[in-house]
Amino acid sequence: MPIQDPPSPASAPVALQVIPREGHNISRKDISPNAVRVLYRLRDAGFAACLVGGAVRDLLVGGKPKDFDIATDATPEEVKSLFRNCRLIGRRFRLAHVVFGREIIEVATFRANTDDGSGDRELHEGGRLLRDNVYGTIEEDAVRRDFTANALYYAIEDFSVRDYVGGFEDVRNRVLKLIGDPEARYREDPVRMLRAVRLAAKLDFSIDPATAEPLPRLAPLLRESAPARLFEECLKMFLSGHAEASFLGLEKHGLLAALFPETAAALAANRSGALRRMLVEGLRGTDARVAAGEPVSPAFLFALLLWPAYCRQLMALQAQGMHAAEAQRRAADRVTLHQLQVVALPRRFSTPMQEIWLLQSRFGQRKRVGRLLAHPRFRAAFDFLALREVASPEHAEDVAFWREAQGDLAQDATEAGGDGDDEAGAPPARRRRRRRRSDGRTG
Ligand code: ATP
Ligand code: MG
Repeated sequence: MPIQDPPSPASAPVALQVIPREGHNISRKDISPNAVRVLYRLRDAGFAACLVGGAVRDLLVGGKPKDFDIATDATPEEVKSLFRNCRLIGRRFRLAHVVFGREIIEVATFRANTDDGSGDRELHEGGRLLRDNVYGTIEEDAVRRDFTANALYYAIEDFSVRDYVGGFEDVRNRVLKLIGDPEARYREDPVRMLRAVRLAAKLDFSIDPATAEPLPRLAPLLRESAPARLFEECLKMFLSGHAEASFLGLEKHGLLAALFPETAAALAANRSGALRRMLVEGLRGTDARVAAGEPVSPAFLFALLLWPAYCRQLMALQAQGMHAAEAQRRAADRVTLHQLQVVALPRRFSTPMQEIWLLQSRFGQRKRVGRLLAHPRFRAAFDFLALREVASPEHAEDVAFWREAQGDLAQDATEAGGDGDDEAGAPPARRRRRRRRSDGRTG
């Protein structure tokens, strides 16, 4: 049943602070030319038009925005009438997308967050937001946003930054602060807890004490958020170049157990800390790949994040006397199934994730070398093995063996068509592999 009084009080009296062009570092040349075009078209049609949100925040700290969102007092229909290349999307939030080839500029109408009974807003019991499509003023639009740093407007009209919530000062102090009463804002949308950790990690901001305080207490609310949304948020946290810092933030603020319950339990039970070391090292590696522009995969990421849970489940099943191969399959299925209750990992990622786990046992056997090398998941599984060496040096020999085997494979490919006489100058590595392979067969 929708409740009457939203628990989030209308934020403190709004005092507009205008930072003129010479008071900030945002320049039109740092804004996507398409976004600038949209801003001017709106203004020329007599509407207010501002760059808003993450882009303003990122530009103020000298960063490179991912996308350029625009806020306006034009309705979505009015926006559509101004642009041929515009489509309206969304039910919960009606938005205009202005499409320029591969770049999409999102244009949102100022929205209010107050429930005066006139609008199209619904609150869930407990204060969770279900729908809000009530158009409002720019001030109302500002205070419904999450963090003060995310509620700054760059107005194309005079190139000023408009600040209704003290965000300009907070950005300067590199601090994330929720607008309004933190607990109420987290209850409205628990994903804001993850956004706090993620944005602090991404921007290297601190989290204001009053904004940080409720996190461990309210962490269980994350279980009420849509698993699909939590999956998206996980990708942003862990595949955008700040995975390690995000993970440390989740731990520090008591959110890890809410998001990855079985991994958190396994890490707590792992007294040597080896599993945690491996996990952190893996996330560091992910960050390095992102920084180098190399591809990163959700399957590998989740294999890493859930590996402690898998290991623990596997040990429990084997302790019950289950045969190794059966225990591995069961452990993989159980961990996946349990995690899906919280985070909706799509099957196209969970299947290769499980393959990465299940291939690990085959590295130690060193059998059917060629077949394993040809497995579509070999490379990912091998990288994973190399990471396990961080936790347990006993994998060093397997890593060396399979590294060599790959080298041989490359060598074989370049030598294809040769006379096949091994003794006539074949590199030692190659001969060694052949011997070991026959060892494997008889062992
Ligand atoms: P990123 O750098 O990851 O894109 P962002 O702050 O731009 O960070 P978006 O998800 O793109 O994040 O959201 C754009 C803006 O919408 C935010 O800056 C914020 O003003 C507002 N916003 C996003 N999510 C929420 C939320 N859960 N509650 C309130 N406001 C939000
Ligand atoms: Mg954004």
